[in-house]
Amino acid sequence: MHLYGTQTINDQGHLTIGGTDSVELAKEYGTPLYVYDIQLFRERAKAFQKTFEEENIAYQVAYASKAFSSIAIYQVAAEENLSLDVVSAGELYTAIQSGFPKEKIHFHGNNKSEAELRMAFEEEIGCIVVDNFHEIELLKTLSEQLKKPMNVLLRVTPGIEAHTHDYITTGQEDSKFGFDLINGQADRAFHDTYQHEFLNLLGLHCHIGSQIFDTAAFRLAAEKLVGKMSDWKNEFDFSCPVLNLGGGFGIRYTEEDEPLEPAVYVKEMIQAVKETSAAAGYPVPEIWIEPGRSLVGDAGTTLYTIGSMKEVPGTRKYAAVDGGMSDNIRPALYGAKYSSLIANKANEAATEQYTIAGKCCESGDKLIEQADLPAAEAGDILSVFCTGAYGYSMASNYNRIARPAVVFVENGDHQLVVERETLHDMVKHDLSYKKQVESK
Ligand SMILES: *Cc1c(COP(=O)(O)O)cnc(C)c1O
Repeated sequence: MHLYGTQTINDQGHLTIGGTDSVELAKEYGTPLYVYDIQLFRERAKAFQKTFEEENIAYQVAYASKAFSSIAIYQVAAEENLSLDVVSAGELYTAIQSGFPKEKIHFHGNNKSEAELRMAFEEEIGCIVVDNFHEIELLKTLSEQLKKPMNVLLRVTPGIEAHTHDYITTGQEDSKFGFDLINGQADRAFHDTYQHEFLNLLGLHCHIGSQIFDTAAFRLAAEKLVGKMSDWKNEFDFSCPVLNLGGGFGIRYTEEDEPLEPAVYVKEMIQAVKETSAAAGYPVPEIWIEPGRSLVGDAGTTLYTIGSMKEVPGTRKYAAVDGGMSDNIRPALYGAKYSSLIANKANEAATEQYTIAGKCCESGDKLIEQADLPAAEAGDILSVFCTGAYGYSMASNYNRIARPAVVFVENGDHQLVVERETLHDMVKHDLSYKKQVESK
C-alpha cells in the first residue's frame, strides 16, 4: 500500500490527510468529497522551481489549471509564485475573481473566441499562446482596434508523440493543436507576427503529451524548438526570449507507475536547452513549463461511502459507492487506474477483491476494476487516491447527481473551498415550457 504526501494512519486505524482524520472529514462534509493535501501541492511547486533557481535559469512554472480550477487553488498557486495557464473565459474569470496576478496568466486553446481574446486584452494578461492562423487574424484585428499590446507565444507541434515510457517522432503530427514545425506552418506564423505593431512575439511553445515518465522526448522537443528559433535569428535577426516546453510530467496512480522527481525533468530540460543553444550560438532562452497533473494529481483524494454490494458467484464482488463517473470520468473515458483504501480500516489486511462500481446508470461506471481491500460493508469510507487532477474539473451532473464539495487540508486544519451542489442547483437553469394557444 502506498500513501501520498502527508497521509498517515492514526491510532484508530483511520487514514489521515494533512493532519486531519479522513473519516471525520467524511462525517463533517459528507461524501463524495474531494480532499486536497495543500502541503503536497506547495512542495511540488517548490520542487519544480528549485532546480531553475539552482541553475540560475530565468523561468516560469505555470500551473496548468484545467487539471483543477477553483478560486482557492488559484490563491495557493499565487502564494507559491506560480504562473497560471487558463483555457477558457471561465477559467480566466475564476483567476480574476481569485485575485491572481494578471501578468502571470497565460491563455491557451485551439479555438479561442473573439470574446475570450477581447477579455484577455481588457484584463491585460501575461500572454496568449497562439494556436492557429484564424487566431492570429483575430489578435491583429483586436489589438489594432483596442490599441493594446499583447505578448504571444506560438504553439507548435514538433513531430514528437510522447508516450508513457517512450516516444515516436513523426514527419507531420496529426493534432488539432498548434502550427506544424516541419511543414512550414510555424514559419508562416512567425512571419505573420514578429513585426506586428502590437503583438510581441516571445517565443515558441509545445506540449508533447501527458503522464510522461521519461525525459528523452522533452530533450528532443527542446532541441527542435531551439533549433527553429535559432534559424529565425540567423535569417531575420530576431531572437525569441522564451521557450515553453509544456507539461505532462507523470505521477503515480498505481504501483505500475514510476514517476521521476520534478527536479529530474527540469535538469534534463535545462541541459538540453543549454547544449542546443550553445551549439547554435543562440542566447539561452527563459524556460517555461506547465505542470498540471503533477501539481494536483496525488494531492487529491476522493472519499466515498460504500453502499450496496453484489456478488456474481465465481466472477467478482461489486462494492458500490455514492459517486462514480459523475465525479471521476477518467476510468470510463480512458481506462484510467486508481488505488484505494478503506479509510476506517486502514490498518486491516486486504483479504478481498472488489470491483468498485459507481452509482451512475452506465455499466461502464466502474472506478476500479480490481481493488484489494479488507472485507467491506455498507457505511465504510472508501478513499480513492490520486484523484486531484481531471476529477472535479471534469465532473458532470450526469443523472442529475450534485457535484461533490472540495475541502483543503493543511497542518491539521480543514476548510471548505467549493460547496457541494444542492438539489436546487440541479434545476436552477431550467425553465418551464408552456404550450402556446393554437395558431390561427
Ligand atoms: C493539459 C496541458 C498541460 C498540463 O498537462 P498535465 O499532463 O496535466 O501536466 C500543460 N500545457 C498544455 C498546453 C496543456 O494542454
